[in-house]
Amino acid sequence: MTERARLVVRGAVQGVGFRPFVYRLASELGLSGWVRNASHGVHIEVEGDRSTLEAFLLRLERDKPPRAAIHSLEVSYLDPVGYRGFTIEASESGGAPTALVLPDIATCRDCLREVFDPTNRRARYPFTNCTNCGPRYSIIEALPYDRPNTSMKAFTMCPDCQREYTDPSDRRFHAQPNACPACGPWLELWDVSGRVVARHDEALRRAVQAVDAGRIVAVKGIGGFLLFADAAREDAVARLRARKRRGEKPFALMYPSLEAVEADCRVSALEARLLASPESPIVLLRRRAGRSRIAEAVAPRNPYLGVMLPYSPLHHLLANDLRRPVVATSGNLSDEPICTDEHDALERLRGVADLWLVHNRPIVRHVDDSIVRVVRGRELVLRRARGYAPLPVPLRQPAPSVLAVGAHLKNTVAVAVDRHVFVSQHIGDLETAQAADAFRRVVATLRDLYRVAPERVAADLHPDYLSTQYAQALGPPVVTVQHHVAHVLAGMADNDLDGPVLGVAWDGTGYGTDGTVWGGEFLVVDGASWHRVATFRSFPLPGGDRAIREPRRTALGLLYAMWGARAAERLDLAPVAAFTERERAVLVQMLDRRINAPVTTSAGRLFDAVAAILGLRQRTSFEGQAAMALEFVVDEREPPDSRYPCRLAAAPEPASDRADRPAWIVDWQPLIEAIIEDVQRGRPAGVVAARFHQTLAAVIVEVARRTGLTPVVLTGGCFQNRSLTERTIDALLEAGFRPYWHQRVPPNDGGIAVGQVVFAAAQRG
Ligand code: ZN
Ligand code: ZN
Ligand code: FE
Repeated sequence: MTERARLVVRGAVQGVGFRPFVYRLASELGLSGWVRNASHGVHIEVEGDRSTLEAFLLRLERDKPPRAAIHSLEVSYLDPVGYRGFTIEASESGGAPTALVLPDIATCRDCLREVFDPTNRRARYPFTNCTNCGPRYSIIEALPYDRPNTSMKAFTMCPDCQREYTDPSDRRFHAQPNACPACGPWLELWDVSGRVVARHDEALRRAVQAVDAGRIVAVKGIGGFLLFADAAREDAVARLRARKRRGEKPFALMYPSLEAVEADCRVSALEARLLASPESPIVLLRRRAGRSRIAEAVAPRNPYLGVMLPYSPLHHLLANDLRRPVVATSGNLSDEPICTDEHDALERLRGVADLWLVHNRPIVRHVDDSIVRVVRGRELVLRRARGYAPLPVPLRQPAPSVLAVGAHLKNTVAVAVDRHVFVSQHIGDLETAQAADAFRRVVATLRDLYRVAPERVAADLHPDYLSTQYAQALGPPVVTVQHHVAHVLAGMADNDLDGPVLGVAWDGTGYGTDGTVWGGEFLVVDGASWHRVATFRSFPLPGGDRAIREPRRTALGLLYAMWGARAAERLDLAPVAAFTERERAVLVQMLDRRINAPVTTSAGRLFDAVAAILGLRQRTSFEGQAAMALEFVVDEREPPDSRYPCRLAAAPEPASDRADRPAWIVDWQPLIEAIIEDVQRGRPAGVVAARFHQTLAAVIVEVARRTGLTPVVLTGGCFQNRSLTERTIDALLEAGFRPYWHQRVPPNDGGIAVGQVVFAAAQRG
């Protein structure tokens, strides 16, 4: 099958023979399409089969001309348009020149060589950078991007650095953060009282010794603090968990080299490229079977590891001296944003870290590490931050100036300028005062950097969201956007799609137009107009939000919807047995009287309930943990047509012209009954989980059939689940539909702001 890859390459790629190189490479591989210079780099579109496109992508970076440097490489796979031959096109002209702020770029090879060359004047200097690498977004205070507008303004360049900076033939010509040991920032190691224990390289060496000794070191990096601990030491990792109050959510790891990663994980060519890319995100990798040197407490009962390679000279030096994988998790308490200032970090991380490795280059704004995973041979961004933010997502039509404030969890914000949506870095869950402050700061940043005076503000329909209330208080007219409609529009923008499409928006929670909690939605979306084709049969959540952390409650609600109060007598079922008799009585009363038992159509909660019925998790320490447990046990050997029954029933309400009245209801009762039967027969959880995923894929195909639209967009937090996503893609393709899933815009609530912008822009037209 032919696909089209759209590549946006930013960096030193003009006037260095890059376009002729692209031409030769594409011709050699027999790909059709074009290449052209654009305002900040080169745009490429190539068509061909998947494996050739992948080869093109890998060789583009590996074989590029010696003087070319890639600062950012974004790829989207789109529908083919039927190019013939390959051409070098005239440069892009016209269109408003959009001020572009680059993301922070991982250390380039040339700088790395200097840092590890003992004879170089930058030997072991942790703040080495050049025009091709180093911090950008995290140090910019204002545009244009010049040194006086960055946090490097406090450092005056020495004559040597100044010479490099002003020499057009030098790699550091106009490198704004240029610095060296004589004139630039330096390291200090602080103890818990803020006393300087060591400076410069001695600080780094002492920090390494401390990690070696099982201690926890807070390290000020590019976009904030990371907490380092020896990943092989069960005691150190357990201590970090306890001090950070982090439950069981997996920790990310930093490895010294790709070879070291490959010893612990299976790494595809694309995953290897991502690990070492200018973006250098955390990549979710499948662990190898067998014994591991990684402590169990790093990612309990999780077959994946979140892995990254060093991306700044400081991290390279630490990883090189440590010679082993370390936990490198964000320096914060659970749910708070990452610390950026050393004095603040000393306060907030007191009791968490043992030592603080700090420096005096201020971080202007927090930028977390990004997280990606590979689904069906494509990059899927789960958390968009360092290396990606604040790069724009292109729009099909120019948009009015819109500010979108996102949702509540995994919040990001976005502004539209002409045909670009500039998406902020990940801000996080707006649950704490610190997170709310970070949210306000990021909104101000985006407005200032892009000089946007929004003529309208887009927000979630949920009246109680902090983001919505903030939007209402801003002044310009507010457009509220239903949560799942925003998910679908984000997925459409990500895939460069016009409507109408069938959007399958499955997640944990989103406010519905009827005031109930939605989350298992099938929506036909075309610009700002939409209607709800189908949804899941609703069920009550005893205790409301408490059910998120207690899948057993969700399961009980589901069983209650099937059997009424008798559900509480089914002590043969794991979630029911997980309550005391007294708890069961209280919960049944809640359900009978419908007190604090909101109903939901959430697909995410359905995953939780099934995980509980399978006995995988009755309580969780973070949202999505039970659903992840279900994904992790899936037995890949189960044939794809092995499924449970599930009923797609006509909605009971009389026909209505209300957009939010679905025509069909997915009744999960036969599915749940069959699962219970299998569990009682002792069928392995892996088989049941596989059948459950396959049943849901079949349900999506059936709704697509009845809807009759070919493009189907898979979106919402549930489609972070690789098993669900890949099975659904296969089933849709086999039935003749065209599935789309997320690539650069997160499928979770981190993508909501993009969808809100698209909605507000479409509504005007
Ligand atoms: Zn460099
Ligand atoms: Zn210098
Ligand atoms: Fe959502």
